[in-house]
Order: sequence, then structure tokens, then C-alpha cells
Amino acid sequence: MRNVLITGASRGIGAETARYFAKMGDKVIINYNNSETEAKKLEKEINGIAIKADVSNSAEVKRMFEEVGRVDVLINNAGIAGFYMLDTMSDDEWDRMLSTNLSSAFYCSRGVLPQMISRKSGAIVNISSMWGLTGAACEVAYSTAKAGLIGMTKALAKEVGPSGIRVNCVAPGVIDTDMNSGLDKNTIRELCDETPLCRIGTALDVAKAVYYLADENSFITGHILNVSGGLVI
Ligand code: NAP
Repeated sequence: MRNVLITGASRGIGAETARYFAKMGDKVIINYNNSETEAKKLEKEINGIAIKADVSNSAEVKRMFEEVGRVDVLINNAGIAGFYMLDTMSDDEWDRMLSTNLSSAFYCSRGVLPQMISRKSGAIVNISSMWGLTGAACEVAYSTAKAGLIGMTKALAKEVGPSGIRVNCVAPGVIDTDMNSGLDKNTIRELCDETPLCRIGTALDVAKAVYYLADENSFITGHILNVSGGLVI
């Protein structure tokens, strides 16, 4: 049985990915920050292990890795979105977007790599976004962080491939989670019309893509898997 650590697994894509990996027979470590009730409920539902840590904080991530033990698969999923015009964005807002969406993946990957390198096996999957591929107006910080995850995926795949570790990335399109709860019905309909597969995505669509990349017998590394129903091609 693999031990799979998913950051930001209390809600949305992370929670559905936790359910999917558990259903397929893995033991899931459910990282959360604010949503304790949801995380504890999921812990019971899938017989997982919930662990609180703000992954944007290096010291909290270090403490989390002291507690978790063996991790075979790390999924860097925790993230926040935010709309800002760059010319009025504050230093604190920029730092929060970058530390939550990008530095978190650095802290967690650095935390897990020593044990993976010593076992000469492991997989890391980063959750980027289509905006990391194309850029989005009013989401410059988010797009920058998500593009950074793509760069990190490719560079780290080269660095740790010789140690038997694969690093891949999923770039979701519009997925039906709390992150998009602000979108009204008309906007969703327009997005569906623009999408070749004629719908927005589900958290399960992303979970299945993550699972595919985490397969231990795979020859795939450094790959960015677009899960957008064709909205971005
Ligand atoms: P969501 O429903 O808003 O859930 C976000 C999750 O991230 C929550 O479980 C939250 O945990 C966790 N989180 C946020 N900050 C954290 C921190 N500092 N430390 C630990 N956990 C933290 O969002 P989602 O749609 O599932 O998004 C998941 C990932 O997919 C994100 O990286 C997002 O950028 C990416 N993505 C989403 C979409 C989309 O359309 N939904 C598209 C492309 C990419 P707590 O509530 O416990 O704090």
C-alpha cells in the first residue's frame, strides 16, 4: 500500500483526489489548513490521516514531515486564487499568492525528497492551472505561480529522475469547486460553449489524471497534462 500525501485535501480537487486514491487502495494523508471539520470527516470516510499545516509556511511544512513518516507520492495541490490588478497589488498580497501556490510546492518537495532519494523511488505531482500555460488578466500573481510550478516540474524531473523519482504536473481548466463558486450561471454556460467537450470539469476528472501520473510503473516524467476539456489546446 502506498502512502500518498495530498496538500490542501480538505475540499475540492484535493479531497476528491484523496477519495480516488483511497478507493484504489492507497493510504492517504490529508493535509489541511483552515477546514478542520471537512478534513476530519474525510479522514473517517476514507480511513486516512488528517494533518494540519499551512503549507505556505516553511516551518509548518518541516513539522508536518517530522510527523508523517513514509510518503511514496506527494501531490502539491494546495492553492488559492485571487483577482488583482498588478499596479495596485500590495507586497503582502503578492507574497501570499506566491507562497501558497508556489513556495508550498518547494517546501513540500524538499521535505519529501530525502526519503524518496534514499529509497530510489517516488512520485511528485504538482497541480498547476491552464493559466500557468496561457496567463490570465487580473490574475498575474496566480498565473506567475502556476507557470512557476510548470518550470519546477520540468527542472526537478531532470534533477531527481536519476534517483528513480518522477515529477509531473496537471494543468486543470475550469473545475467545479469552491474556487469557482463566484462564477454565475451565464458565465458557466459561456465557458461550456467555449469548451470543445461542452462542459466544465469535475474534481474527479482531475483526480483521475493525477492518479495516472502517480502510477509507479510509468515512464512519464516532466510532463504537463492539460485537463481542460480542450478549453486550452
Ligand atoms: P478549493 O476548493 O478552494 O480548495 C483549496 C484547498 O487548498 C483547500 O483544501 C484548502 O484547505 C487548501 N489550502 C489553501 N491554502 C492552504 C495552505 N496555506 N495550506 C494548506 N492547505 C491550503 O480549490 P480547488 O479548486 O480544489 O483547487 C485545488 C488546486 O487546483 C489549487 O492549486 C488550484 O489553484 C488548482 N486549480 C483549480 C482550478 C479550478 O477551476 N477549481 C483550475 C486550475 C487549477 P483549507 O480549506 O483547509 O485551508
